[in-house]
Amino acid sequence: MRKILRVDMSSLNISQEEINEDFKLLGGRGLADKILTTEIDPRVHPLSKDNKLIIAPGLFSGITIPSTSRLSVVSKSPLTGGIKESNVGGPVSQELGRLGFAAIIIEGRASDSFYIVRISKKGKIYLDPAKDIQGMGNNETAQNLFRVYGKQINILSIGPAGEMLLPTATVAATDQDGYPSRHAGRGGLGAVMGSKGIKAIVIEGKVKREVKCLDKALLKESIKDFSTMVVKINKMNKQYGTTSLVKFINQSNGLPTKNFSRGTFEGVEQISGERITELIKERGGKTAHGCYSGCIIKCSHVFNDKNGNHVTSKLEYETVGMLGSNLEIDDVDMIAEMDRLCGDIGIDTMELGATMGVLMESGYIPFGNAEEVIKLLEEIPKGTPLGRLVGSGCATVGKVFGCSRVPVVKGQALPSYDPRALKGMGVTFATSPMGADHTAGPVYPGMGKLDAKKPDGQVEFSKNIQSNCAILDNFGLCLYTSPSPKTMEFIIKAVKALYGEVMSRDDLADIGKQILGMEYEFDERAGLGSETDELPFFFRQETLPEIDSSFDVSSEELRSIRKYFRNK
Ligand code: SF4
Repeated sequence: MRKILRVDMSSLNISQEEINEDFKLLGGRGLADKILTTEIDPRVHPLSKDNKLIIAPGLFSGITIPSTSRLSVVSKSPLTGGIKESNVGGPVSQELGRLGFAAIIIEGRASDSFYIVRISKKGKIYLDPAKDIQGMGNNETAQNLFRVYGKQINILSIGPAGEMLLPTATVAATDQDGYPSRHAGRGGLGAVMGSKGIKAIVIEGKVKREVKCLDKALLKESIKDFSTMVVKINKMNKQYGTTSLVKFINQSNGLPTKNFSRGTFEGVEQISGERITELIKERGGKTAHGCYSGCIIKCSHVFNDKNGNHVTSKLEYETVGMLGSNLEIDDVDMIAEMDRLCGDIGIDTMELGATMGVLMESGYIPFGNAEEVIKLLEEIPKGTPLGRLVGSGCATVGKVFGCSRVPVVKGQALPSYDPRALKGMGVTFATSPMGADHTAGPVYPGMGKLDAKKPDGQVEFSKNIQSNCAILDNFGLCLYTSPSPKTMEFIIKAVKALYGEVMSRDDLADIGKQILGMEYEFDERAGLGSETDELPFFFRQETLPEIDSSFDVSSEELRSIRKYFRNK
């Protein structure tokens, strides 16, 4: 029986409870949503003791199914004011699954200082003082924790941004090399962890656990077919990482450039996946690197500087787009340095890129000037008023600087896709209960045989893919296994093999529908109704010069997605 760990930071009381039998097929986002929506009033302040932080491994975590170690971090977001699921890779989810934990609920608020929640190999829980690591960046925090608890541990931590309760703060997770390079990056959930008084969660690994499986032959056979499919569709991802998208999205006229004023970038070759891969190889870095050992896609890589020293392990497409072309910066080493700083401070790279775009558009710093971006970024851990402003995100900075072109939905910055050239992606950004978030339902050019530049069919496609993404997040499958019908078929077979539950395609779709239904309902009660399912108006007013087209999916159609998931 899976169990739930409850940590009350007000009383410093720790308890464990068995999971409700009705939640048998819920894990990750589905289970965390269920707990949050049942246990908190959506009107609470996100940083108050009444909010809760739920950390839940996907249902398949800890089972030897490839690319399934995804962890859902869920709470009321200090950035959007609504529910937020931020998903992160690395071995943490796998280890929690092996220990039999379905979720960790962190509630209340420590009155004095910061703590480390430590979970031993035997599943015992300790609260250790974090005095010695308070104020440290994520890298130094990890090094200290490895020294104290040994090299076998896996870590979730917050950097100075989380300690300062900034609404763009991340929760960092260590990868298989021990770098805190993976982030539950979106929605400021690092600030919620900071508000509870938790600097780090340490999970002692590597636990060995025999997972019960009712039909091993069926599981083995379905994993074989699934793995073949996943490897086949991810060849580019393995070769260049997610930065393989840089040239592709540029060719599709959707690479945000100069604060979303163009969709193609002159310096695209210098920041392309091909160029980054060349530099990685020249400098002794790593390509085809997995965030945890059980991944067969391996979209991650290790980027070194000119002297061969490690800079970052996760130069992702969305980071390169938002900190590169969006700011007219074509120097990969500077982008990598910004990424390293964001990771160490614990700040969302996409939010920072959009924030800097707005500062550049307002004339506070010039476009193309990476040094100025780094100077502003370095203000954050110092806790200066300017640093706090920059760490408060794009919407706040847009207001303070009187900028009329602020690329946010529900208070959260758009990832690196121009919604006028990728209209399906725009539908997801506008309608997701999470604010603008590509992982909620990515619609890439060519998907569903749709013309990405035309509005036709985009709403229906985005609706279905958002539901399938919620299903992936429930079971803990990485997004790159693809939210496709084939992956859904695999999940149905794996559930039958593991638990003996026979599910139809409709039963599975119902899990996705329930998850999104819960999220929309929470948002509405928190004050985010259907009027928030919109892109910033400038995307409707201004045409993207390369294609002479604006965002033209009707508001009524956008709102039909919420109606569908709310059964209205
Ligand atoms: S595809 Fe990338 S993000 Fe997904 S599990 Fe593998 S390495 Fe991690």
